[in-house]
Formats: sequence, structure tokens, C-alpha cells
Amino acid sequence: MTLTIEAFAGGAFAENTYLLGREDRGEAVVVDPGAAAEQALRSARERGLEVRAILLTHAHLDHVEGIPAVRAAFPDAPIHLHPGDLVLYDAVQAQAAAFGMQAPRLPPIDAELEHGRRLRLLDLDIDVRFTPGHAPGHVLFHLPGHGVALVGDVVFAGSVGRTDLPGGDWRTLFESIRAHVLTLPDETRLLTGHGPETTVGHERRSNPFLVPHYGGELA
Ligand SMILES: [Zn+2]
Ligand SMILES: [Zn+2]
Repeated sequence: MTLTIEAFAGGAFAENTYLLGREDRGEAVVVDPGAAAEQALRSARERGLEVRAILLTHAHLDHVEGIPAVRAAFPDAPIHLHPGDLVLYDAVQAQAAAFGMQAPRLPPIDAELEHGRRLRLLDLDIDVRFTPGHAPGHVLFHLPGHGVALVGDVVFAGSVGRTDLPGGDWRTLFESIRAHVLTLPDETRLLTGHGPETTVGHERRSNPFLVPHYGGELA
């Protein structure tokens, strides 16, 4: 069984849109479709993959603005979001205005995510962990069979998510990282919403935001 994971960065925020693909099944899942969604769709088309679902780590503009493009190509792909971010999702026009940008109209959410839920997509287990702090309804997606977690804007290579946007909270973010990122195996690949991928162990040892708090304690 082969799972492919491709990242496509685009837009003013260089947000990463992820395409999880199973060529043996002709299926794919899109995570956080942003400005690079068309590139992900092109890859899916070239490889004969049908997008079966859209998973959202959170509802900031840069992580959702590609939803209309994905839905235009795959009208039946259900959109999954934690209800804690519905307010942000519904206010995407206001989010865009705050950055002097325009946002597309978004279709309604189809499925609400909750902490501890195990999704079954692409014949894979995908575990949902609630990780608020950067956004009030932020989640990460952990693929325990593959040693991979898609962590959105919770933690980055050498950094952490900003907490100054509406619904953000610094203490809550650090508690999310401690409880739901640093408890993953060290070798777990972290696929982040911006920038390059990293690992749990690398961030535990070297992330300047985390080392003073948690360095070594959880190793
Ligand atoms: Zn964000
Ligand atoms: Zn982002």
C-alpha cells in the first residue's frame, strides 16, 4: 500500500495545500486547500485521483480559499471542520477584508470534527486531535500508521503559530503543543501549514519557543 503526500505552497501567505493520494485506489484527500489548490488538483488529475474529502485544520482565509476550486472539480467531496472554527469560516469575507484582500464565497461545512475521532479515509486511519490556541477550533490530523501529522499552524520548523488573531491564545497554544504534538513519537513527520516539514524530535530539541519550556522533559 502506498500513500503519497504532496505539498503545494502558494499565495501571499505561502500556505501549504496537501494532497494525500492512493494511486492503488484512485483516491485522494485534500488538506487545507489554499491558494495552491489548483496545483494540487492538477496533480490529482494527472494521476487519476478522485478527491474524496476536504479536511481543514482550521478556517483562516489562507487555508480555505481554495475550497471553491476543489468543489468545482469534485462537488461531492465533504468539507470537515471543527465546530470551534465555524465562526471564522462564516466570517471569511471579514478575514479577507482585514488583510485588504477578497475572499470567495464558501460552501457550508458537511462534517464536524471532534477530538479523539478516528476518520477512515483512503482506507487509512486518520486521528483528530483538538489543538486550539492559534485558532479556537484548530485540529491536527495524525496518521498513526504512517508516522505523519498534518499540524496546520500549531507548530512550524523553528517556530509556533501566532496567537494575536481573533480567538488566539498563547497559553492554550502551548498546552496544545505539549499535550498533542510533543506526545507523538519523536520520529513523527510534522507537515506544517507554512514552510518546510520537520519532526517532533527536532522541534522538541531545537525549537526556540519550546526548548525553554519542555526541552528534554518529555523525551
Ligand atoms: Zn492560521
Ligand atoms: Zn496559515
